[in-house]
Amino acid sequence: MLTAEIKRRFLKFFEDQQHTVVPSASLVSEDPTVMFTIAGMVPFIPYMTGMVPAPYPRATSVQKCIRTNDIEEVGKTPRHGTFFQMGGNFSFGDYFKKEAIGFAYTFLTTPQDQGGLGFNPDDLWVTVYKDDDEAFNYWLELSDIPAERIQRLGADTNYWSAGKPGGPAGPDSEIFFDRGPAYGIDGGPATDDDRYVEIWNLVFMQYERGADNGDGTFELLGELPQKNIDTGIGLERIAFLLQGVDNMYETDQVRPVLDRAAELSGRVYGNGGEDDVRLRVVADHVRSALMLITDGVQPGNEGRGYILRRLLRRVIRNMRLLGVETATFPELFPVSMAAMKDAYPEVERDFDRISRIAYAEEQTFLRTLAQGNAIFAEAADAAKSGGLNALDGAVAFKLHDTFGFPIDLTMEMAAEAGLNVNRDKFDSLMREQVERAKADARARRGALADLSVYSAFRAMGETAFVGYTELEAQSRVI
Ligand code: ATP
Ligand code: MG
Ligand code: MG
Ligand code: MG
Repeated sequence: MLTAEIKRRFLKFFEDQQHTVVPSASLVSEDPTVMFTIAGMVPFIPYMTGMVPAPYPRATSVQKCIRTNDIEEVGKTPRHGTFFQMGGNFSFGDYFKKEAIGFAYTFLTTPQDQGGLGFNPDDLWVTVYKDDDEAFNYWLELSDIPAERIQRLGADTNYWSAGKPGGPAGPDSEIFFDRGPAYGIDGGPATDDDRYVEIWNLVFMQYERGADNGDGTFELLGELPQKNIDTGIGLERIAFLLQGVDNMYETDQVRPVLDRAAELSGRVYGNGGEDDVRLRVVADHVRSALMLITDGVQPGNEGRGYILRRLLRRVIRNMRLLGVETATFPELFPVSMAAMKDAYPEVERDFDRISRIAYAEEQTFLRTLAQGNAIFAEAADAAKSGGLNALDGAVAFKLHDTFGFPIDLTMEMAAEAGLNVNRDKFDSLMREQVERAKADARARRGALADLSVYSAFRAMGETAFVGYTELEAQSRVI
């Protein structure tokens, strides 16, 4: 089943259950506290908190998402993309746990010739928060999943909070697909996340969150006046399970780029080694970059632009590690566009602009890469012959500042050379540079200029790169 078909079925199923179909919002979130849209619920946050009355009691969407915090997992796990599509169904003070569980189970297990996904209940496992007897009992009542396959887990995995005192919080329930003994040990989702793939997360927003206890836990202030449902199902995960392939990078919207990259490099995909990971990273990042540029992001040195730059440069670097030293974007981007255009016609309509931005970034980086590599090699040799285990932080800074090497690239290269990077030195040089830039900006604009938009953006860029948003602080211990 093609990814676009999974999307169509998902929206149709929930539309038939009186949900208003809401188109995907941009990847560039309107919420200034969030750098990118990281989940289907992001555009609905105002309705969740009750700040704004919801225009509909039920909604459904398939939301484009970017999660930079998963970047290190890409290509190594079967299930983490930096870009992916999240189906969601939402209730704003309307239905609650019972219906949310019933809908999810029904959609997953309804036969494919009747509009569902046709999963066999024997392949499904469920987790609930350990004290959530209600959810546990609804699963028993509404599904054919036996009690042995409903695991009660702690707050670290099964409790969600918006992260702020006063915001909503509540237990969640996750649905997993068991890929079988070939993929890992028996024992359910609590034991093995390679064998048991999380496919759907149901969040029951039930309580008002209180103050932090200071140890990662927080108080609960009581029941919310309006209880909400927020769910997220990963389309790429469903796609790889239903398409009979091993991971999301081999699904219909991603695999063509992987194949083209393999062709360009003359490497054969599927040997299970480092090359496979690199090809998957290339395929993932090309698609993410395509979708980010489509939504208006341009490569830059901070904030969203820096994330995009980092993705593009990781593609180039991985292609070099695969043995290709020349420009590859003119080969890879059209393939990604062709794979995505049915679902997102704008990638084709706007491809002139999108490709111009991507190709120019590749040209720029290829020019400096060779010089930067030489400087890196010299510094790495010096560190090793001096008996040090870390690369000088000042060199890392120079590579960043003059040659545009994202720090994670330098760290990756250092790791391959058996070295660390002196991060303290690097970080302090970065801070000094930021301070200098701020002082310059102040001087240029004068004291009365309005800095609000720019400074909000900067603040995001500086923190959101490694840190993550409050939304992702999903599972704190209560
Ligand atoms: P995991 O534990 O596998 O990292 P998660 O708990 O972080 O997933 P949620 O935040 O619950 O994921 O998001 C809801 C759903 O979105 C997940 O159940 C999964 O199907 C999908 N999803 C989450 N992250 C990714 C990703 N990086 N790539 C593809 N799909 C994803
Ligand atoms: Mg995750
Ligand atoms: Mg999870
Ligand atoms: Mg989850």
